Amino acid sequence: MKQSLIVVGLQWGDEGKGKIIDAIAPSFDYVVRWNGGNNAGHTVVVDGKRFALSLVPSGVLQKKKLLIAQGVVINPTILLGEIQMLEEAGYRLDLTIDSRCHIVMPYHSAMDAANEAWKGKNATGSLHLGIGYCYEDRNNRAGIRLEFLVRPDELKEKLEHIVPLKKAIIEKVYGVKTDFTVQSILDEYILYGKKLHKYIGDVSSLVSKQMDTHAFLFEQAHGTMLDPVFGTYPFTVAPPTIASAVFPSVGIAARPLDVIGVVKAYTTRVGNGPFPTELFDKTGETIRKAGREFGTVSKRPRRCGWLDLPVLRYAVRINGVTRLAITKLDVLSGIKKLKVCIGYRYGSKMLREFPSEISILANTTPIYEILEGWNEDITQASTRSDLPKKTQRYLACIEKNLHIPIRLVSVGAERNALIR
Ligand code: GDP
Repeated sequence: MKQSLIVVGLQWGDEGKGKIIDAIAPSFDYVVRWNGGNNAGHTVVVDGKRFALSLVPSGVLQKKKLLIAQGVVINPTILLGEIQMLEEAGYRLDLTIDSRCHIVMPYHSAMDAANEAWKGKNATGSLHLGIGYCYEDRNNRAGIRLEFLVRPDELKEKLEHIVPLKKAIIEKVYGVKTDFTVQSILDEYILYGKKLHKYIGDVSSLVSKQMDTHAFLFEQAHGTMLDPVFGTYPFTVAPPTIASAVFPSVGIAARPLDVIGVVKAYTTRVGNGPFPTELFDKTGETIRKAGREFGTVSKRPRRCGWLDLPVLRYAVRINGVTRLAITKLDVLSGIKKLKVCIGYRYGSKMLREFPSEISILANTTPIYEILEGWNEDITQASTRSDLPKKTQRYLACIEKNLHIPIRLVSVGAERNALIR
């Protein structure tokens, strides 16, 4: 039986999953994206060229067979643009998209923007791309599945039901003018249907039938701490992000699978919400600059902070992580003292794992272990023993605390800057 694998980020996203997926993809037959929309981006750098991918699975640059499972919601303009960009760069796509995938419609982004404005300072920090609203319609049985883009009559019938209500909500409740009509949407989306037709298939059936004979790499978007249940609710995303959600999101029976947990050597998060080890000083700024911590999709500066082991212990448990990939270790070079949060102080107690109650979290303070930093440039290291002793100690501290072996260490954005 061929070994399949799930890759998950253990923090708040942007851990560098794209780089890790690209690096290990050669050992797999298929790369499957199974959650999120185009609000989640992966960046992969090959020979100095940066590819920002928001919907196409990161295995594309290793010329793997690609699948987009039903758990993903699709903005057709973005997907078609990405396919075109990749084809122009010489990558022919072997891509199948599940017909059950839901489509992000113009009223989803309009609703998203209107609602964020309404919430004011309590806004989630959404990018107004309408992803959450697309998932909401899916759950509310008011969504448009990919299959309907190639069935104009059925699409029209659905839009005639849905669009007047969406318009009324946006205009009468939020007081925001809209410019879409049933006809304008129909004209645009039928065209998308024609272009996407050749990619439509049944990913659930394809994976189920080939799981024993082929190796699948399941690629998560977002990160564990953005999961709508186990993340820092309500500053979370709409689709599940934890490893076991792969099974319903693809449509396959549950089975034991290896899980690689991708961990950035420090912590970042975009948008609002709790972040216990956040740095507000010059060190935070240094990390942001060195790590180019600005959103792939949003370009927003990411909040930066120290590595948080309670978050990682929790994420390891929730995901069933079997090995770790540490990324962006090079970014920490030159910082004199490195702090690692080993637990949270809560009253007289020490919490070793991230608490289930957000209100407890609000009353905790991080407890840090201080490690010596290193000055050397580590981007050329190709084995762990090439690394300075102090860098090795930093990695050993993570392994010792999480009881999981580190299998990959990324020391630069380029494909080859990797210790295996
Ligand atoms: P993802 O969504 O988890 O794939 O992460 P992003 O693509 O949003 O962010 C990761 C960023 O870090 C990208 O720009 C990568 O090119 C870059 N990157 C990945 N690994 C490394 C690394 O080890 N060192 C450095 N300096 N950059 C890295």
